[in-house]
Amino acid sequence: MNSRRDFLQKIGVSALALHLAPLVGWANNTTNNEKTYDGKVLRVAIMGLGSYGTRVAEAMQSCTKAKLVGVISGTPSKVKAWQSKYGIPEKNCYNYENFDNIKNNPDIDAVYVITPNGLHHDQVIRIAKAGKHAISEKPMSVNAQQGQEMVDACKKAGVKLLVGYRMHFEPKTLEVIRMRQAGEFGKIMFFQGQCGFTIGDPTQWRLNKQLAGGGAIMDIGIYAINGSRYMTGEEPIWVTAQETKTDHEKFKEGVDETIQFQFGFPSGAVASCLSTYNMNNLDRFFLDGGKGFAELQPSTGYGPIQGRTHKGELTQPITTHQTVQMDEMAGIIFENKKPIVPVDGEEAVKDLKIIDAIYLAVKTGKKVDIKLS
Ligand code: NAD
Repeated sequence: MNSRRDFLQKIGVSALALHLAPLVGWANNTTNNEKTYDGKVLRVAIMGLGSYGTRVAEAMQSCTKAKLVGVISGTPSKVKAWQSKYGIPEKNCYNYENFDNIKNNPDIDAVYVITPNGLHHDQVIRIAKAGKHAISEKPMSVNAQQGQEMVDACKKAGVKLLVGYRMHFEPKTLEVIRMRQAGEFGKIMFFQGQCGFTIGDPTQWRLNKQLAGGGAIMDIGIYAINGSRYMTGEEPIWVTAQETKTDHEKFKEGVDETIQFQFGFPSGAVASCLSTYNMNNLDRFFLDGGKGFAELQPSTGYGPIQGRTHKGELTQPITTHQTVQMDEMAGIIFENKKPIVPVDGEEAVKDLKIIDAIYLAVKTGKKVDIKLS
């Protein structure tokens, strides 16, 4: 790695630099980040203290504009452990039965829903009714109709609805988007997204249709769907898709193991993607244009993201995705900041409409038109 000075010169003075402090041992004069930021802090309660909720909570410790202040959980022992680890007061602890009472709690601004996919719809609508901003994990729900109901409920309640699309704030991803917008790849012709891993425990909620809403597409294929949109800068207008299933015991009816899908875009560009719960080493995006290319591999894991273009290696800084995401979301909620790639409910509904279309294409074996607006 370069010297610290070279490194800081490279990244320049930006908000991003603050997030790098814990990673580069640059914490001497920023040990208490709150001292350097005197704006409004987004006070967040996390719902669902599972594996990703734990990762978000850890990452939020390095946030400047967002702070973990509450929890919603069905497991009292986890609540106790989080209270002592993060200094969460008893009055900010809720369970799945009583969390509507959060409406009477002036010390919580937003709830981050990190539960199984099939629960997001009802939970977000309850949060909206309690008058709190909602952040939902991806997929925002299990179909476009549910997603639209969530958007409508949040609009009606006058609260924001955001989705944990952490890649929308990732520096190398944003550099590829910048280069594409600047025309550096020329006319975009092709995108390839390969997303998958081999799933373990057959009893987990990810393999339960009711809780997961489907299979690999819902969980990991969504990265290729969303990525094909932000990498090409276009919305797909048609999809074809083919499913293969090698293990009917583990992947029951309605739970997809492997789906290959292809998109067509208005410009004539095409995409070819693979989503699977039965193969490893698949975390790669490739974008091809008339004048150049970009490859990200790994492209959507927790990092470090790596990549290159026809101009050479991408050298943008490594960040903790969830730290940046939560600080940026505070800006979106309180300052109406507009991210380069949207992370709102409407953006998530587009992905859900595409997922609906992929399942329909698999079922019918036909090319399905996609209408996103
Ligand atoms: P997990 O199984 O580790 O955690 C789920 C949590 O929900 C647990 O604490 C569990 O107790 C709780 N829960 C509440 N009601 C439940 C019920 N009826 N059945 C099962 N669990 C219930 O799962 P996870 O990996 O943390 O995933 C949670 C959400 O976060 C999913 O929507 C997933 O897609 C998303 N996620 C996003 C990312 C990302 O990078 N953005 C990464 C992982 C997971």
